[in-house]
Formats: sequence, C-alpha cells, structure tokens
Amino acid sequence: MPLADELAGLPLVDQHCHPVVLDPLDRPAFELLLTEAHEGGPAGTSAFDSAAGLAVRRWCAPALGLVPHAPIDDYLVRRDELGSVEASRRLLAACGAVDLLVDTGLSAPGLCSAARFGELAGARVHEVTRVEAVVEEVAARGVDAARLGAAVVEELGSRAAGSVGFKTVAAYRVGLDLPATAPGAAEVRRAADRWLAAAVVHGGERARFRLDDPVLIAHAVHTALSLGLPLQVHTGFGDPDLTLHRADPSLLTPLLRALPPEAGPIVLLHCYPYHRQAAYLAHAFPQVVLDLSLAVNHVGVRGAAVLAETLELAPFGSVLHGTDGFGLAELHHLGAALLRQALGTVLEGWLAEDALTADDALRLAGMIGAGNARRVYGLGG
Ligand SMILES: [Zn+2]
Repeated sequence: MPLADELAGLPLVDQHCHPVVLDPLDRPAFELLLTEAHEGGPAGTSAFDSAAGLAVRRWCAPALGLVPHAPIDDYLVRRDELGSVEASRRLLAACGAVDLLVDTGLSAPGLCSAARFGELAGARVHEVTRVEAVVEEVAARGVDAARLGAAVVEELGSRAAGSVGFKTVAAYRVGLDLPATAPGAAEVRRAADRWLAAAVVHGGERARFRLDDPVLIAHAVHTALSLGLPLQVHTGFGDPDLTLHRADPSLLTPLLRALPPEAGPIVLLHCYPYHRQAAYLAHAFPQVVLDLSLAVNHVGVRGAAVLAETLELAPFGSVLHGTDGFGLAELHHLGAALLRQALGTVLEGWLAEDALTADDALRLAGMIGAGNARRVYGLGG
C-alpha cells in the first residue's frame, strides 16, 4: 500500500487537547478561536488570511462535504447548516484519534464536557490534571497558609489516581527557570502567607485565585514529579499572557539534570519556535519527550518543515502527536490532518533519498502517531 494511504488510516493518540464549543459561532467568534490573539486584527484583515486559515479551507472543508479550498464564507454557511454539534462531530470523527488526553484545567464559556467531547470524537478520554488549577482549588476551599503546602500534596496525590498525567503552565505564570530542587516546608509556608494575603487584597474572592507565586508553583511541580506520572510542560508560543523567551524549554535544564529517580517522563508541549531546543533536550535527557501540538495547526503547510527540524535531533521514540485543539473542532481536525501530511512529506523525502526503508517509515509513523504516547502514558492498545 502506498505510504499516503497507510498514513490516512493511521490511528492516533492526541496527547494534548481540550473540549470544543458546541454553541453556534458567528464569524468574529470563529476567527478569535482560530488565533492565539485576544482580539481581532485591524479592520480589513482576517484571521483566515494565515497558514491556519488556509489549512481550514484545505482540510476541514472536505470533512463538511465541501470541495477543498472552498471560500471561507461558504465554509461558515455550511457549518451553520449542519449545526455546530454535527459539524464538530464530523470534524472530530474524521481525525482518526482513538485516545484523547484532555487537559481539564482550562475552562471557557460554552466548552462541552470531556465526556461529551469523547463521545463526539468516538474516542476514549483520559484526564490530565493541571497542577496550578489544583493549588487554586485548594486555596478557594479556604485552606489557610499553614496548611496549604500539605493540602496541595494530599490533593495532587488523590488526583493522580484518576489522571494519566499532570500538566504545568509555569511558562505562563513565572517562566520555565524552575528551581532544580523542591522548596522546603518553611519556604512554602512563607510563600503561602504572601500569596494568600495578596490574593485576598487584590482578588477579594478566593474563587478567583490565580497562582503566580514561584515558590508555590515549584512546590506543585516537584510534588507532581514525586508522584511518578508524566508531567506535561507548556513550552514555546501561546496567547499574549505569555512572555515568549521565558517559555524556552532549555530553561528547564537545571530541573532536568536533577530529576528525582521516581519522576515520570517530562512532556514538552508545543515547543515552537523552540522545537529544536526541545529536540536537543529529548536527545540529551532520556526522560524528555515532546509534541508539536498547537504549532502544527498554526504553521499549516509548513508543518513538514517543523517536523523535519524536530526529527533532526529528537530520538524517534520521543516525538508524540498532539493537537491542542481548543474550542473549535477544526483545530483538532487540522492537527490530525496536518500531522499525516507532514509525516508523508518528510518520510517520502527520506525514502527518495534512500535514508530508510518503507518498513522503517511505517514503523516511525506508528510510533509518532500513537505508539510513543501509549508507552509514555501506559495506555492500553
Ligand atoms: Zn492546551
């Protein structure tokens, strides 16, 4: 069978994604979900005039019964005709994902439940628990500063049982230069005093706590490491809350050098534009694996180039598939379609150069599409 046909049928594990919005979306709402920006572009411009916008027309239009490259107005009319639920179901089902690892720590108005999302996609759902959200939940219960550190340890311990992994958004809150060793109990206590006092003054309401204290984030991250599950780390680009250079995964080097023996795999998410740094870390530290979620969607037709740069140095057993689809089922669909396209372009090129055999190419695609994630998270086949 030609490689392209094999790739079209490759079962995928989407190791980082979020549920979708099932309410009807008008054009401005759709455009906003297609970009990492918090607001629309200048008048006269469109989010569809981007690599991601072209990719929606190329890859999502056929999933809704339109010709590839259908104009975006036709696409949105068709999406409305089908209804948001049916359009999402078609786009998700066509991803070919059999397992979805869902980050449940990010909520947004209109986002459906993880269970509903799995049902629409026809896939198994596994939960990934965001450590910062756990600290915020514990604080919102009214736990005092003296008890906060221990309560976070207890809560993360009990959440580990229902999760396939943890995730940290330290890149957003404090940057990735996390301390190599866990902060001591006294330091955690002082940080909790400081953070809770400031949160009460500024937030007024404990339910709105936002964890931005570097010591408490380090405490949560080191606690998660001690529990042995894979730890996903947001790295690289994201929305404008993030300061890009503080999300360079190479800032994690001191932590990676000092990982405790009980730590599970460290999973670098997104990585772009630091995918080469991430590939180096995966090369140098066997506990490190990575994905190109979010990145592949946004770079669109350049996905093959980004994947090829990643595979320059990353061991093939360290590269996982993820979409970071959030809100729009189009994003999950694009992540899957563009991975298949990128794998096809890279592997066909290597075959043409006689760099590997057709069997090697298929095996490598299977590892990146699903096998590596099954190993890292201990998922059944
Ligand atoms: Zn995400």
